[in-house]
Amino acid sequence: MKHGPRLFLTDMQGYKVEREVPVNVHVGATAHATWENAPLTVNEHKAKKSWWQKLSQSINLAGAWLFLQVLFGSNRLAIPHVSVPSIAWLDWDALRRAGFQGCVLDKDNTLTHPYKSKVAPQLLPSLQRCQQAFEGRLALFSNSAGLRQYDPEGVDAALLEQNLGIPVLRHSEKKPAGGSGSLEDHFGCPANKLIMIGDRYLTDIVYGNRHGMLTIRPSPLTREGEPQAVRWVRMLEDFLVRRYRKQGKQAPQHKLAATSEIIYSFVNDNKIAVW
Ligand SMILES: [Mg+2]
Repeated sequence: MKHGPRLFLTDMQGYKVEREVPVNVHVGATAHATWENAPLTVNEHKAKKSWWQKLSQSINLAGAWLFLQVLFGSNRLAIPHVSVPSIAWLDWDALRRAGFQGCVLDKDNTLTHPYKSKVAPQLLPSLQRCQQAFEGRLALFSNSAGLRQYDPEGVDAALLEQNLGIPVLRHSEKKPAGGSGSLEDHFGCPANKLIMIGDRYLTDIVYGNRHGMLTIRPSPLTREGEPQAVRWVRMLEDFLVRRYRKQGKQAPQHKLAATSEIIYSFVNDNKIAVW
């Protein structure tokens, strides 16, 4: 097979990747789908993200400010409706029967290991069941891929869509900031019919609760590979949420999950992980 010149793409970690591509790929601002069926933006210049980009990706200032508001105002926004060791514990059919119409998933440490682009193998069967139960109405909502500030050309988002088979929402504000308009447009339903699933209280859970979604918090897949700043914030939010729970505080009421029986039904077999 005849091949064209070698091109340089940016991978999930921001490192330059050299790839040989078929000659029928356009070399220009955007290379379209003939290469491994994914629209990829060719980027010869931004070979590596700067240390500032990486650092500011780890520290979510808007999120920290919102969390302060949660701290001194409504603590309940940081508390998920359901906590599970991983998404493998979720009964997707029960969630669908309760009336939810779509799932919004975080990426890092929820579906994939930090900064990786493949679903953790132990989660694949559950993700497949989720796809079936919701007839493909899933979307990835990440604070890296698809966020215009860090992925302006959508390169990371396109690679993820190719690897995970799930649409990646393009958005301009990091969780927990930002509205729910793009989610509602994507799914064609109000946000309170959607489920937000993510491992971070500060970002995923606060964002979901702010918009009236059902919030589910799987434990992080691993602590390896996470920036130190994220580890510190995790310690803080774990401490706070534990404290709120000891004080008897609960997640905001949700119309489609009004009783503890309904909430219990969302978890497979083991019930000990439900809060
Ligand atoms: Mg995460």
